[in-house]
Amino acid sequence: TREIHLAQRPTGLPGPETYRFVERELRDLREGDVLVENIVLTVDPYMRPRMNDVKSYVPPFKLDHPLDGGAIGVVVESRSDALPVGSIVRHGLGWREHAVLAGEYATKIELNGLPSSYFLGVLGMPGMTAYAGLFDVAAFQPGDSVFVSAAAGAVGSLVGQFARLAGADRVVGSAGSAEKVALLVDELKFDAGINYREGDVMGQVGAAFPYGFDVYFDNVGGDHLEAALEHINERGRMALCGSISGYNDPNASGPRNMFKAVGKRLTLRGFIVSDHESVRPEFEQKVGQWLTGGDLAYRETTWNGLDAMPEAFAGLLTGANTGKAIVRLRED
Ligand code: NDP
Repeated sequence: TREIHLAQRPTGLPGPETYRFVERELRDLREGDVLVENIVLTVDPYMRPRMNDVKSYVPPFKLDHPLDGGAIGVVVESRSDALPVGSIVRHGLGWREHAVLAGEYATKIELNGLPSSYFLGVLGMPGMTAYAGLFDVAAFQPGDSVFVSAAAGAVGSLVGQFARLAGADRVVGSAGSAEKVALLVDELKFDAGINYREGDVMGQVGAAFPYGFDVYFDNVGGDHLEAALEHINERGRMALCGSISGYNDPNASGPRNMFKAVGKRLTLRGFIVSDHESVRPEFEQKVGQWLTGGDLAYRETTWNGLDAMPEAFAGLLTGANTGKAIVRLRED
């Protein structure tokens, strides 16, 4: 079987030299283990900071070791009573074709007719992030106006739609192309969109919200956070989810107007989705209902085959994806 190792730590955007494809033998199964053939793998932005040798909320990837990340696969050999052959499972050993792991580290998934990749997106980690961030962290209330950055991506596209479905007064997102902005308005039913590559973010955010906004869901940091601090209403709330504008750029600058947070009595709250497991039942019930009821538009951008992982990851970091970025190894 094949897996992808971290060959060197990247500076800037990770190129092909970052990775090494390694052929290896799988170890024998012990009592309780399963052998999983991966079906779909995810690339997520948080993997980029993990390629650096810095301490964070997840330890860095180790040089000359396999990368890891979310995956959905099918159990093809089992020594676990709970996970018989044929079970579909979600687990953390992505970036590879097969995985041997203890059954307790795999979660059984009922597809209910949905594509397996949805369980790495709208019904997986990004969906939970959008839900927990908006409702738990930013304490969204019906009637709030909401601004979300990286709005055509996996998390952002859901944040805006969840806000609309939960009774937002106005939802505006920013994204990096005219096509993505059109998608926000036409398909995801945002009230408006901003193309941050076209004109200044500060001016565009101000123009999009003549009456300000109450919640900012930050996926980008930098210029977006600065514009949000400027235009958010008094006592506004910010869910600080990510800061992708700085992931490839060690010299990225932060907002220069943090004092706005003082005068406006803002709440800025950083969060990590894994601390919000308590909302999972509510998330699964609510979002499952919205999805099957046709209330949510859901997009994916799919790359095919393990060899495409590096390209998919670089594409994610540069905006080649619309909606959730997925790498598919085989049909469901
Ligand atoms: P996305 O699907 O949103 O993909 C990333 C997007 O970021 C790209 O498509 C690109 O879109 C945009 N982007 C890249 N560079 C820049 C830049 N310099 N300025 C503005 N936008 C940029 O990824 P996810 O939805 O998975 O993740 C979104 C954010 O949420 C990330 O910051 C991630 O780290 C964070 N996150 C945090 C979690 C937590 O627990 N706190 C959990 C999961 C995600 P475009 O074409 O619009 O530029």
